[in-house]
Amino acid sequence: MFERSGEQQMLVSNVRDAVERDVEPILQNYGKEEPLSKADVLDVLSVFSEVGLLGRDIPEEVGGAALDHTTWARMFEQLPMQTDLVTMISSETARMIHTAGTDRVREEYLGPLLRGEIVGCAGISEPGVGSNPREIETIAEKDGDEWVINGTKTWISNGQIADVAVIVADTPKGKTHFLVDADTEGFDRQRLEMLGRRYDHMGQLYFDEVRVPEAHVVGSLGDALDRTYQSFELGRANVALLGVKTAQNALDAAIEYANDREQFGKPIGEHQLVQRLIAEGATYVDAARLLAYRALDHFDNGHRAATEGAMAKWFATESAVEVTSNAIQIHGAMGLSRELDVERYFRDAKMLTIPEGTTQINKLIIARDLLELSAFR
Ligand SMILES: Cc1cc2nc3c(=O)[nH]c(=O)nc-3n(C[C@H](O)[C@H](O)[C@H](O)COP(=O)(O)OP(=O)(O)OC[C@H]3O[C@@H](n4cnc5c(N)ncnc54)[C@H](O)[C@@H]3O)c2cc1C
Repeated sequence: MFERSGEQQMLVSNVRDAVERDVEPILQNYGKEEPLSKADVLDVLSVFSEVGLLGRDIPEEVGGAALDHTTWARMFEQLPMQTDLVTMISSETARMIHTAGTDRVREEYLGPLLRGEIVGCAGISEPGVGSNPREIETIAEKDGDEWVINGTKTWISNGQIADVAVIVADTPKGKTHFLVDADTEGFDRQRLEMLGRRYDHMGQLYFDEVRVPEAHVVGSLGDALDRTYQSFELGRANVALLGVKTAQNALDAAIEYANDREQFGKPIGEHQLVQRLIAEGATYVDAARLLAYRALDHFDNGHRAATEGAMAKWFATESAVEVTSNAIQIHGAMGLSRELDVERYFRDAKMLTIPEGTTQINKLIIARDLLELSAFR
């Protein structure tokens, strides 16, 4: 990768120190697939708040870290996997509230989110609505000076533990973002168990006559889809980083094993077909990282990055599946054993090919840009 500036080196090393000193001791109390308790999540978030990971590009005068996205990404790459998504999503929720929340909502929720005192989540997907948010069925109806929300949101990262959710609901004026406090009557949730990333807090959210004040409209009535599509561009670069981290972990494990394990009287790393897997894996990881940082660099220079984000997302997550699968191959049966981490990396990688646009949807976005023809109808 490109050389880090002195300031970036300092920020990255602050994160490494914080992880080693304050976060690893918490993680030692958990199995590698076990979700952290809410109290421990908050402790971890407050540590990451101190080093600027929650504040990201939000201005310092409102409690943010005023970082550029590429610097944030270098810091983010240092996070243990049990803590990365919860940090990313809480920070994204803070960014949404900072950019489009009313004064009242910012006063109440922005500071606590940025300080890691509460957890955020964002709800678009529903049981009947995935790749096409235009079909969102959750409804918000005006009643006096309140909105009444009914519907279900599913596959929501942080959903099981979030204190605050920014969700999209349909109104007579179109799809609109609403902030819902998890303490509101009529709000309920359940944890969802998945193939991989079992340490995450994925949840399904239920809204049964949930009443929120007018001040909880985030943005303007009817503008949620535009802002959702725009936020996906950065979200895709973020998920690409998760893919890079997962693949890098698997590649590191494969290199170590290929040096240690001997067959036919020499380390398996001396067999040319094993070398091929290592060489391809390293190339995938580097190419994925470069695509992710290129997309983030676009944001740092004030540009949109629909195509760049889509390229980074599909390539990094599919590469992660390939690299983790080949890491299993290099480990032989040990790669399939629960004794090592490699099979978990494979399951974790597969999880990433779905959110922020599936691989297929991201390819349609890229082709739409190149062809100026849309397959979305
Ligand atoms: C780890 C993880 C985290 C997530 N976090 C969140 C979150 O925080 N908030 C949230 O709102 N949602 C979240 N989601 C949900 C995610 O956004 C959806 O799963 C995703 O948008 C796909 O929707 P779906 O699963 O309903 O699949 P579907 O949309 O039903 O798609 C099923 C299959 O059909 C294909 N397909 C669909 N339409 C087309 C088309 N036009 N052309 C070609 N192929 C098509 C898809 O590529 C896929 O292979 C998360 C999901 C995962 C796995």
